[in-house]
Amino acid sequence: MGWRWETGLRSLDKVDEFDDGCLLCRAERVTTWHFEDDECWVADCVVCATPMIVWRRHGLPHGDLERDLLERLSAVASERYPDGFWIDGERRRIPDHWHAHARPAGGFFDPASDLYGRPWGRRG
Ligand SMILES: [Zn+2]
Ligand SMILES: [Zn+2]
Repeated sequence: MGWRWETGLRSLDKVDEFDDGCLLCRAERVTTWHFEDDECWVADCVVCATPMIVWRRHGLPHGDLERDLLERLSAVASERYPDGFWIDGERRRIPDHWHAHARPAGGFFDPASDLYGRPWGRRG
């Protein structure tokens, strides 16, 4: 992805562009991808099987951008979980690269996950 210098906004975000050792930076397509643009991508989480949005840069976006990104996740999630969903913004495994999960209402894992129905102790 190119550097969007024309917006002038990106230079305000003091984050690394890319971290070689980071799974989210590598953005390997090991699960179904639902959406992507030049800011983010939404794919099923390897662990939870719920839709997960990942910012394309290694770091944390400012509040306005974060709200924007979560709207994109919500669009995917409302089709996937018509009965309701909740946004889980807690970054458990990779705290320094912004991502968020959309989870089915009242649940943690997607029914497609091996972990579905398990206690929430083992989270991904
Ligand atoms: Zn990263
Ligand atoms: Zn997950």
